[in-house]
Amino acid sequence: MCAAKAITGNLFERRTVSVLAPLPLAGPYDYALPEGLDVAPGDFVEIPLGRQTQRGVVWGNATGEVDPAKLRDIYGVLPAAPMPAVTRRFIDWVSAYTLSPQGAVLRMAMSVSDALDAPKPVFRFGLAHGLTESQANIRMTPARKRILSLLADHPSLEQADILQETGTTASVLKGLVEAGMVRREQVAPPSPFALPDLSIPRPDLSEDQEKAADLLCEKVAAGGFSTILIDGVTGSGKTEVYFEAVRAALAQDKQVLVLLPEIALSAQWLQRFRDRFGVEPALWHSEVGQARRRETWRAVADGSARLVVGARSALFLPYRDLGLIVVDEEHEHAFKQEDGVIYHARDMAVARGHLGGFPVMLASATPSLETLANVEAGRYESVVLGQRHGVAVLPSVEIVDIRVDKPERQRWITPTLKQRLVETFEAGEQAMLFLNRRGYAPLTLCRACGHRFQCPNCTAWLVEHRAWGKLQCHHCGYSAKIPDACPACGAEEKLAPCGPGVERLYEEAIQTFPDLKVEVATSDNIAGPKAAAALVERVHNHEVDLLIGTQILAKGYHFPMLTLVGVIDADLGLAGGDLRAAERSYQLLTQVAGRAGRGERPGTVLLQTADPNNRVIKAIAAGDREAFDKVELSERMKYGMPPHGKLAALIVSGKKENEVDEAAWRIGRVAPRGEGIVVLGPAPAPLSLLRGRFRRRFLLRTDKSVRVQAVIQDWLSRVKTPGSVRVQVDIDPYSFM
Ligand code: ADP
Ligand code: ZN
Repeated sequence: MCAAKAITGNLFERRTVSVLAPLPLAGPYDYALPEGLDVAPGDFVEIPLGRQTQRGVVWGNATGEVDPAKLRDIYGVLPAAPMPAVTRRFIDWVSAYTLSPQGAVLRMAMSVSDALDAPKPVFRFGLAHGLTESQANIRMTPARKRILSLLADHPSLEQADILQETGTTASVLKGLVEAGMVRREQVAPPSPFALPDLSIPRPDLSEDQEKAADLLCEKVAAGGFSTILIDGVTGSGKTEVYFEAVRAALAQDKQVLVLLPEIALSAQWLQRFRDRFGVEPALWHSEVGQARRRETWRAVADGSARLVVGARSALFLPYRDLGLIVVDEEHEHAFKQEDGVIYHARDMAVARGHLGGFPVMLASATPSLETLANVEAGRYESVVLGQRHGVAVLPSVEIVDIRVDKPERQRWITPTLKQRLVETFEAGEQAMLFLNRRGYAPLTLCRACGHRFQCPNCTAWLVEHRAWGKLQCHHCGYSAKIPDACPACGAEEKLAPCGPGVERLYEEAIQTFPDLKVEVATSDNIAGPKAAAALVERVHNHEVDLLIGTQILAKGYHFPMLTLVGVIDADLGLAGGDLRAAERSYQLLTQVAGRAGRGERPGTVLLQTADPNNRVIKAIAAGDREAFDKVELSERMKYGMPPHGKLAALIVSGKKENEVDEAAWRIGRVAPRGEGIVVLGPAPAPLSLLRGRFRRRFLLRTDKSVRVQAVIQDWLSRVKTPGSVRVQVDIDPYSFM
């Protein structure tokens, strides 16, 4: 294969290449090529590694680190399309940016290893012309006749169809093949993905939408790399607009990737997508089954999957000719992968577009400050959609001060909110209560001795899930039965739930509105696409009057009859105070508010708060994003925080606390110093125990001009830590736990 491109080492000795394996190895290892085997960069090969056989990718020329005479031979080349050069460059880039081992990044690009095997052969059968019955020397039974007459009407058919149509068995067909009357031929397996239908007319776009769509389509037509922010209020038609860009890229025979933050819950989005393009896209997320993953991987590699809709890992598929990436809800923190290779899919998407030379489009109603800063600096362009589509208007937002407008004891719905709910239901409309807390109560306390139930593996309280009769840790999944007596003092019937979760709010709602249909939606019960689609259906059919939910209800959903949104605790996200708490809270509350009044009837949002003068609350009530962004940016500037400066974190963790402390101390001793560099830590992480591991953190803050990766590489090269302690690097951290 590809003999012309074959790469070799020294002609007079053994021919050698380097091969990267999908393991957390820092780089490729050298191998020798056996006699008669040629390989080119990108070929998938089998290699010996230690005592095992591994699959890897030919990365390039041998590194020369090992004497060629001592190298082991590659076993062979796998029958898969080679990994495209741009995918390999992307892996190198992500590895260098995130300071993750190249092999760990490759592992994300080889997540379906069996897609590299030859696909199961597919055969078709047709009439073999030229042979008469007597020449074939075969007795014509009725079953044989039925097959021959069926095949007379079809150029070729698959075995299953023939047997089903004729009611015969495989041995009858086999007999005809052996007699030479039917030919059997192997064909390429059909792609599971149909080509999109580009003839479906686009909806009538408003003037603003049309202007935005034209600009996006021009970018696609012009080709080359660019990044464009689609900045539009909720319900303004951002999706309709970027669909035009998707269509333009498809019309150029390019592949398109759309990244969604919660793809499993995007039933409504997918339906719109099907309506616009007439086909199912290739879906790529953790819930796609193994067989489908294999087919998808191959179809992306051979180019027959033209439209991929996926979670962040879809970036690492082996696209044959990718021509556009859209990142919807670009501000979402779900795009940050927090374990293994720690990366932000939005930023990697931009890098991928740069390497592939095509446009990347970011859509949001509340763009991240990083993206806004890039627009400001002229690195990204932007198109703005300032109004909701059609007659829909943005909802009006009102503040409810819970210190004045008090709910009853152990209740969370204020009298004002209750009154509005009544009015909404009387008008035949629907409402939603938002509380970003799963379970019944976030904390359980013994009223006799003060004992609090804590996770044994994490620095976290156990959350009561009354529906399951359990206390559960939301970090590690640990769970225990709710005991009858306090485990500390033995007192009975003294355990008290503290604070509300959605289950508890549900209890209050059905007591307050016994005649209404109330439903809770959290990741516990709406876990996949089917459940999400069924929920949408129920809300549309008005089988639900009041929805109670967590952040899974905040985005994407379009319920025209939903006119009231009550935010139970608007202060919740502001506690804790990490770098982005205000920004994140602003984004989340804007998204939630954006669910109200999306149809013909106007919407109202009530924010229950104990801090009505907080700038986040005030900005949302005033609908003034610009003012909020301005203040937030100037706060960040004051402290040299992103997007003005750069951040990176080191997380030192291990099972033994003293070893972790010792390692953290050593790392701290050789911390980098210099102009524009500040190191904070080591400090116990807020989650100083997580899944049984003790954790210490460093935070590195630098000026924009500092090459953070080089600084950290140099830092870590000057200290040795034991194998039992892990040091994770998090470039551009979003989680400070
Ligand atoms: P966003 O992504 O900005 O929240 P969407 O694209 O979801 O907005 O649009 C909101 C609603 O308005 C959707 O139901 C969508 O189908 C509808 N809509 C938007 N633009 C148009 C249009 N030009 N013609 C018809 N319906 C539209
Ligand atoms: Zn835990």
